[in-house]
Formats: sequence, C-alpha cells, structure tokens
Amino acid sequence: MPQPSWKVNEVFYSIQGEGKHTGMPAVFVRLAGCSMNCPFCDTKYAFQTGEEWDETRLNAELKKYPCKTVIVTGGEPTEQDAPALFAALKNAGYTIHLETNGSVDTDVSLVDFVCVSPKKYVSAEMLKKADVIKIVVGQDTDLADLKKYYAYENAKTQIYLQPESNKQENIDLCVKLLKEHPAARLSLQMHKMANIR
Ligand code: SF4
Repeated sequence: MPQPSWKVNEVFYSIQGEGKHTGMPAVFVRLAGCSMNCPFCDTKYAFQTGEEWDETRLNAELKKYPCKTVIVTGGEPTEQDAPALFAALKNAGYTIHLETNGSVDTDVSLVDFVCVSPKKYVSAEMLKKADVIKIVVGQDTDLADLKKYYAYENAKTQIYLQPESNKQENIDLCVKLLKEHPAARLSLQMHKMANIR
C-alpha cells in the first residue's frame, strides 16, 4: 500500500510566537491550502504552493532538528488527511501541536495540544476539543459573535484574544474586551515584533 502523503508548503525550525506556548522552540509543518480565504490571512503564500511529502521524507527532514515538538499548521491542515499525519508524527515520537480554524471536525486523539482559531465558520465539536480558542480581533470583529466562544471556556479550554496584525487599535480593543472578560488572555504575535521567522 502506498504511504499517505500531504501537500506541504514548508517545514522550518523556529519559535512559537503566539498564545500559550509563546517562546517555545518547535518545528513547524505548514500544510498547503485553505478554503476559508480570510482577508487578513498572513499565510496566503501557502494556499497554492506545496510539494507532496510522505512519511519517509517528513521524518528525514524532522531528524535534522534537535526538537521533539512539531506544530502542524497551514493553510488549514484539516483540509488534508491530518489524522494520518498525526499518526506518523506520533510513531516518530513527537509531541504534536495543531493550529486549526476548526472548520472540519477531525480526530485529534493523537494531538497533545489543540489550538482552534475560529474564522467564518467553526465546528462546535472542534471547539469542545480545543485546549485554546484563539480569536483574532480586528475592527470588523462581531463582538456579539465573539462572546459565544466564552461558553466553551472550562478547566481545559482557555480563550485568547489576538489583535489582528498587532495593530495598536486592535490591541486597544482586545485590552477593553479582556477587562470586561478577565478569564480570557492576550496573545500578541511576538514573532513579528521580534522579527523571528
Ligand atoms: S483560516 Fe487561517 S489560513 Fe485559512 S485563510 Fe483564514 S487566516 Fe488564512
């Protein structure tokens, strides 16, 4: 049987710049493609461009780095066979973090940390599986809609508000919202401020 493969845009070793694990070294596996087409997307370069990677090629690349944490991101990873990717990574002994928009209800039983960042639509099942719900907040954000996510907060799931593009007006809005809902947390895109890839 042929190995499963995934259309991969890039694999690189860097520092997590957002949310709960900000500052953590990790290998990023960026899968190509996303059908959501958000206007503020900062990874549009990953929509079309990618090569097919199977488990053998992936493991050979990952072995180059002295790090056992992989962040699977995109694009939108769940638009491909993400569970097969999680199985391959787990077989190779990696701790797996997933960054997803949560639009596709996906088996994440092998994933150690799930970050759902809801966009135009999101699966309620994926919100229930999230360790973190990271909401990008900009001037166009529907604030009533945003508050619906607060219902998913519990002992496992933390809400983060992330100012769109680190713009000051969006940071100010996030601070206002956080003061109204202090159980949530602020997530800045540290890697952009520090000029880290
Ligand atoms: S869901 Fe994420 S990757 Fe997809 S278009 Fe929106 S911001 Fe970009």
